[in-house]
Amino acid sequence: MSAKAILDMIQKEGIEYLDLQFGDMFGMLQHTTFVAKNMDEDQLTEGIPFDGSSIRAWKSIDKSDMVFKPDLESAFVDPFRERKTLVLFGDIYEPRTGERYERAPRNIAHRAVEYMKSLGIGDEVFFGPEPEFFIFDSVRIENSSNVSFFEVETGEGPWTSGNEGVNLGHKVRHKMGYFPATPQDTLMDLRSDIVNHMEDMGITVFLHHHEVATAQGEIGVKFGDIISAGDMVHKYKYAVKNTAYQYGKTATFMPKPMFGDNGSGMHVHASIWKDGKNTFAGDGYANLSETALYAIGGLLKHGRSIQAFTNPTGNSYRRLVPGYEAPVKLAYSATNRSAAVRIPYVTGDKARRFEFRCGDASGSPYLAFAAMTMAMIDGIKNKIDPGSALDKNIYDLPAEEADAIPSTCATQEEAIKEMLADKDWLTAGDVFDEAFIKAYTDYRLQEEVEIQKLQPTPVEFEL
Ligand code: GLU
Ligand code: MG
Ligand code: MG
Repeated sequence: MSAKAILDMIQKEGIEYLDLQFGDMFGMLQHTTFVAKNMDEDQLTEGIPFDGSSIRAWKSIDKSDMVFKPDLESAFVDPFRERKTLVLFGDIYEPRTGERYERAPRNIAHRAVEYMKSLGIGDEVFFGPEPEFFIFDSVRIENSSNVSFFEVETGEGPWTSGNEGVNLGHKVRHKMGYFPATPQDTLMDLRSDIVNHMEDMGITVFLHHHEVATAQGEIGVKFGDIISAGDMVHKYKYAVKNTAYQYGKTATFMPKPMFGDNGSGMHVHASIWKDGKNTFAGDGYANLSETALYAIGGLLKHGRSIQAFTNPTGNSYRRLVPGYEAPVKLAYSATNRSAAVRIPYVTGDKARRFEFRCGDASGSPYLAFAAMTMAMIDGIKNKIDPGSALDKNIYDLPAEEADAIPSTCATQEEAIKEMLADKDWLTAGDVFDEAFIKAYTDYRLQEEVEIQKLQPTPVEFEL
């Protein structure tokens, strides 16, 4: 869409506000709101200055001026606002040099594709992300000393809660949520509303369903290129959280909010295209090409390091444990949901792809997709052999066999340290800038790892 078309739309459709949104390094959506009728064409094309000093791990107060350049193709009307508001995603630029800011995740995603193109590996990388989430009631309980967090928060579950006003019938038990019909599935109407909002925001949605855990859901959306898939994940989370909020509920994309039940992942389907053809289609294992197998080789080789971006929070590592459909081993397989990479059954070369199952939606989608792109590039460039596929239930492997396969990281700190020791594949072509990596890891280590190490938790009292 041109700047002129946006200005016309503001006039004709009575748009009162322009909301400029971008995702920060930690996956939080940030925004600032402008009066639409007072915007001009230059601002839309040249960019709009704003103060970047209070964005975590970005600028210091003495160098806080930044420029937001809207991506005019990203425009959508926010379905949650009372006054008609047009949202624009965009890229962050340095005001004086006019260069893209190297710590803005969307810019890193742009650079990853540009690097892939410059090597002649492909001209487009497509991602189909599958974020999962929980929706909790905010039920207040007077005497909560003998009920679990689970009962308090979800009002769904196999126990007697003694909580007046909560319907104790038709409960979804742990790991039994996939997928009994209503009335067990109490979240169906809410999910349908989320989907209507997502469609209004320009996302193509195929389906929604209850997930395996109590109060867990997932929405099936169309894949996109690295930028539109990154924007889409931010929009998906925005729609889920804001719709739940309208219902007086709280949605969370925390990877493991409930002990003893499945966690929430964000599996990501990927394929690299060149000259209008899917380079992942071939006649190797599970109808993949050699290129696809090398890409898997890169993902598995850097599978521990990449978790600093795909499994970025402390809570991410409570999910990566055996028994809950989350991967614990860096292996690949066509049939296996316990492996880090699964090749789904599809028909036709266009759909040929694999699914990276490690990640979750607790961080920046742009950084996760950029890191995946770089790992796949490294695998293809260096012809990294992924070894043979592992078509067995990895959770049940005898110890000797299991020990021979590398595990996913056990903690956030381990993943960050792995990445700091294995990052040449990320900094290749200056895609992940060294200063960015330092700012990102300093923040994660000092503000997150340390705090979680030092704080007593409820379970310590119980023990
Ligand atoms: N919730 C599972 C996970 O943590 C995934 C379930 C599925 O296969 O969709 O990855
Ligand atoms: Mg799922
Ligand atoms: Mg999946």
